[in-house]
Amino acid sequence: MAKTIAVLTSGGDAPGMNAAVRAVTRAALSRGIKVIGVRRGYNGLLNGDVFEMNLRSVSDILHKGGTVLYTARSPEFNTPEGVQKAADNCRKLGVDGVVVIGGDGSFRGARDLTGAGIPCIGVPGTIDNDISSSDYTIGFDTAMNTAMEMIDRIRDTAQSHDRCSVVEVMGRRCGDIALEVGIAIGATSILVPEVPYDLERDVIDRLQTNLKTGKKHFIVVVAEGIGGIDNIVREIEAQTGLETRGTVLGHVQRGGSPTLRDRVIASRMGYRAVELLEEGKSNRVVVMKDNHIVDYDITEALNMKKTFNTKLYQIAHEISI
Ligand code: ADP
Repeated sequence: MAKTIAVLTSGGDAPGMNAAVRAVTRAALSRGIKVIGVRRGYNGLLNGDVFEMNLRSVSDILHKGGTVLYTARSPEFNTPEGVQKAADNCRKLGVDGVVVIGGDGSFRGARDLTGAGIPCIGVPGTIDNDISSSDYTIGFDTAMNTAMEMIDRIRDTAQSHDRCSVVEVMGRRCGDIALEVGIAIGATSILVPEVPYDLERDVIDRLQTNLKTGKKHFIVVVAEGIGGIDNIVREIEAQTGLETRGTVLGHVQRGGSPTLRDRVIASRMGYRAVELLEEGKSNRVVVMKDNHIVDYDITEALNMKKTFNTKLYQIAHEISI
């Protein structure tokens, strides 16, 4: 059983990470486990950028976006020497368990640190929902709601000018944000990296069909993983005659106060991570499967393949014309 644990956030930040940090801290302290906060991801373990946390260290953070522990990508940690140095520093601090809140890259680091003798537990935090082993990642709901609100605003102006708006949303190689946001805002077409598309068939023809039935303004939602929207904007304008504007929503989707869903799931996952360390488990990742919080071996989790919800994509396609 762990006596002193460290907690860190790593990779891209996500709203709800603070709720996870708070849950880890409070659950550990209530069990008599000492908690060390690590700043800026694995860099903090390498540089000794750490501090002891108490109950009040995590007050007033539940509703805040970003991460109070800061986050970073750490090229130095991503080497055998770096992992060894981080493990040695953990031993010096008496740390016998680490909770890593981040994405698949951060979990690879957690696997390596476990291999160097420091038991680690991963908690999925990223807005992109692109973690292979989990149906849900902390930050996804907040990012989708932000994107939805922003596109509602774009719709107001697209409607006033009889325009077509092409909006790129985040997600890296994952189309989940685009799919759900596309449904929520009534996009005429949704393009995602998981489904091959044909611009004529899947965008232009659909716009033309809608134009014939009297629709005058349109939103096309494009996932980041498609690789840019400039050409799509140009082609729509050239082929349909519609005035067409492109908007890349960008980092606005990463910020903001986490939604209820993100706060609750982050709290449950953070709590479970501490339970696992208390049970003497290591090299596990806490994930959401079929609405249950479960845990998998990190190595097995990293080998899992994410499935795209093609049924939901089909529904979106059918009801948007
Ligand atoms: P995410 O966790 O969001 O996927 P990254 O892929 O940037 O983000 O990973 C975050 C950090 O995790 C990296 O900067 C690095 O320190 C560590 N990391 C990533 N991949 C590995 C790996 N294969 N082995 C060890 N550490 C890794």
